[in-house]
Amino acid sequence: MDGKGQKPVKGIRISTVNMIMILISCVLYILLITATIRVSEQYKNVHSSMDEYIAFEENEAFLTEGSAYLTEQVRLYTVTLEPEYMENYFTEANESKRRETALENLTDAYEGDQAYEYLVEALQHSNDLMHDEIYAMRLISEAQDYPEESLPPEVQEVGLSDEDQTLGRDEMIQKAREIVFGTAYQDAKARILASVESSMKSMHEVTHEKMLGNAEALESTMTMQRRLVSILFVETVATFLLIILLIIKPLQVHVNCIKEEKMMEVTGSYEFKYLALTYNDIFEIKNANEAMLRYRAEHDPLTGIVNRGGFEQLKSMFQMKGGALGLLIIDVDKFKLINDGYGHEVGDQVLKKVAGLLKSKFRATDHPARIGGDEFAVILTGLEEEMGAVVMRKIGEINDLLMHPDDGLPPVSLSVGSAFSENGFTDDLYNRADAALYEVKKNGRCGCRFYEEGMKH
Ligand code: GH3
Ligand code: MG
Repeated sequence: MDGKGQKPVKGIRISTVNMIMILISCVLYILLITATIRVSEQYKNVHSSMDEYIAFEENEAFLTEGSAYLTEQVRLYTVTLEPEYMENYFTEANESKRRETALENLTDAYEGDQAYEYLVEALQHSNDLMHDEIYAMRLISEAQDYPEESLPPEVQEVGLSDEDQTLGRDEMIQKAREIVFGTAYQDAKARILASVESSMKSMHEVTHEKMLGNAEALESTMTMQRRLVSILFVETVATFLLIILLIIKPLQVHVNCIKEEKMMEVTGSYEFKYLALTYNDIFEIKNANEAMLRYRAEHDPLTGIVNRGGFEQLKSMFQMKGGALGLLIIDVDKFKLINDGYGHEVGDQVLKKVAGLLKSKFRATDHPARIGGDEFAVILTGLEEEMGAVVMRKIGEINDLLMHPDDGLPPVSLSVGSAFSENGFTDDLYNRADAALYEVKKNGRCGCRFYEEGMKH
């Protein structure tokens, strides 16, 4: 069945809706996967910028602590005159190198930034200041008369001017102290520190901003991820609702129609409308076929009236229904002679004529049937008084017409046995009518008799 001849079907196609939902899902999932990948990348960025921030703080501490340590050691040396402070100074300057290490660490992250250039410059000035410090240490070593070879090479390299050579021991110490405690030294130190501080502040801001920027990017991607999950949830719910609306509900409606053997409601999506129209076509054809088969099973093909099977059904129906009814059993007299004398076909014509007369003489509420070869029956309903006389009159008229034919068929007559019941089609009704028929046959045929007590078949 391809639905040929059906009206064009309109409606939403489930296949199209399904396609759209698949596309929306794919887009949403791709976006969600992308957002998830971005979140993990941005999380790594936040993490590394936090590490950078922590490293920056450490380096900042290294830088200032290293610088302060050098100043402290040189000052202690000039004050206490203990060589261990000079050793500490050079251990820091040549081995620990906290300032240089910090600067190296900062190079990767900030090289190229203006703040970094200032920092390098400030450290350059700081290194210049070291010359003064080493000079001060040379004066102290000279004043203390430490052997030349015991001094660090940097100190050995410093030569003293002629004027310095003329200074006494205390004057030398005094000069050295003035160098590292003097206003010029303090100012230079303060300038360097201020410049390091502002440079570090600027770097601090850059690092902090970078960290905040990464955190903000992470947050906005996570917000997007949350929104996508919400949209996906809504889309999933919508998909289920659409499945209920477009598939489950119409299926239930259609299954009920099939169960109740009804025509299907043409509603819902294109597919279900198409299905309903096709089903309805088949349903109509099936009903028509069934009706035709039922009709054929219950009707006699020769005469067109109800056959033996149909008569049995009527009998059952009137058995259940009850009420007053009459039964006529009718047999064509000496029908064999018609067949033998005129042929089987003429015999058939006679049988048709009998059926036609029974149909036309009795009422539409009565039921004529062909129950055997030349045997007929009529179930009479809606009985009135004088029914016996009416039946007698009608049979008389029929016999009159059959015996004086004007249609070229041979004359025939009917023998009719009749019985009545007040309680529907009782078990003995047929036998009583048949017994009455037997009486008619026995007494010369062509006539009608009602059953009386004592009649026997
Ligand atoms: P009676 O008066 O005692 O009824 O005599 P009858 O010759 O009519 O005897 P019966 O009723 O027994 O004969 C019925 C005949 O009807 C026998 C059969 O050949 C004939 N017949 C049965 N069915 C058909 C049919 O469909 N067409 C024709 N033409 N004849 C049929
Ligand atoms: Mg007969």
